[in-house]
Amino acid sequence: MVEICEVGPRDGLQNEKVILSVDERVEMITKLINSGIQFIEAVSFINPKIIPQMAFAERVMEQVPRRKGVRYAGLVLSSGGMERALASGLDEINVALAASNTFNFKNARRSTEDSLAEMTPIIYKAKGKKHNVSGVIGTAFGCPFEGSISFSYIRFIINTFLENGVDAITLADTTGMANPKQVFQIVEQFKEHFPRVKLGLHFHNTRGLGIANVYAGYQAGVRRFDASIGGIGGCPFAPLSVGNVCTEDIVHMFEQMGETTGIDLDQLIQIAKWTEGKVEHPLDGYVMKAGPVERTIS
Ligand code: ZN
Repeated sequence: MVEICEVGPRDGLQNEKVILSVDERVEMITKLINSGIQFIEAVSFINPKIIPQMAFAERVMEQVPRRKGVRYAGLVLSSGGMERALASGLDEINVALAASNTFNFKNARRSTEDSLAEMTPIIYKAKGKKHNVSGVIGTAFGCPFEGSISFSYIRFIINTFLENGVDAITLADTTGMANPKQVFQIVEQFKEHFPRVKLGLHFHNTRGLGIANVYAGYQAGVRRFDASIGGIGGCPFAPLSVGNVCTEDIVHMFEQMGETTGIDLDQLIQIAKWTEGKVEHPLDGYVMKAGPVERTIS
């Protein structure tokens, strides 16, 4: 069983020019949950002046359907964001920083270590309220400004997160710099140092390697991947970044490989087409255009 964390309503929509209304965001989330997605990053508690696409996170969370087994995550980058997140009935809180100092400065206007220090009381607070917290490490596979990032530095960040009580780690390739061999090697190193820690992978398809990187992570033993419907998204702070790895494309890949995801592919394709209409430009997904393999054999 592979778990897909749908990040389209957050990582996807935050980089789209068209701003969806609260009702449209709730409709999108509801459709995704109806297709069988059980884990969804629904909102971000960032200043709406910086990212207006993510405004009214509280209202989105008030309106989303509550179903057994469905977990909602939200992204938090500051203590103010955590106050809002804790009041919003989330199941999981994702705290994020970038392993690259330069990137973190551009993104959060402080160094990586300052972000890490600021997150310590934030994580304690969330853990005190019995929330699950994931530590998301951006630019873990390389930075467009600094180049390669050493795994020993990633380890330092992970160790600090774990000391603070984080429940799981996500390694994010924020600007699509990863390659499959590197992904395999980094996951192997992760397993060696953190054999009992849950790991998720978050890839962007900036250079067309997103799905290859998912496969490499899978081969190395990872069973949790972030993806966005239709491949929407990017990063508002990353130059020329493109969307996440596409949800329906990786669900299709896993289905073809005989791996279960619990998600209905036909519904996903319909949601990708619906999303394409909402964001008003063609999306990058392949399966939404070509259809699934078995439906094309006559
Ligand atoms: Zn991302």
